[in-house]
Amino acid sequence: MSDPRELYQQVIIEHNKKPRNYGDLEGCTHQAHGLNPLCGDDIVLKVVVVDGIVQDIRFTGQGCAISKASSSLMTVNVKGKPVAEAELMVDQFRGMIRGTLDTAVDPNILGKLSLFQNVKNLPSRVKCAVLPWATLHSALHGEEIVSTE
Ligand code: ZN
Repeated sequence: MSDPRELYQQVIIEHNKKPRNYGDLEGCTHQAHGLNPLCGDDIVLKVVVVDGIVQDIRFTGQGCAISKASSSLMTVNVKGKPVAEAELMVDQFRGMIRGTLDTAVDPNILGKLSLFQNVKNLPSRVKCAVLPWATLHSALHGEEIVSTE
């Protein structure tokens, strides 16, 4: 087993270098603009929902390595999933980062995203990791701008 901390670093570096689902998305049904003024992260998330399924999702914007990697991983994980499941992932991700989700007890659907647990120990980066999830939540709820402040 490799060290989870090392694996976390690798995933962040890899997704920051080659973010998945990065770019504009035409014909989106939902979108939101997410801001984290503390760090300067600024993302636009566009989503296509058809029959309650996240058919497509893309993001653009600027941000630090953690926010970009988190956005990339978030899009990979919610694409093709029912909106209800995406919402559950938003809740679980927030819970995991805030330390309210006990992954040993609660069955979690985050899989590889559990790597972000490391961020819990870096309070200044928590908002960077949560930003794409907060933005997804806003997009799905028709709120166009979200700020972590
Ligand atoms: Zn950041």
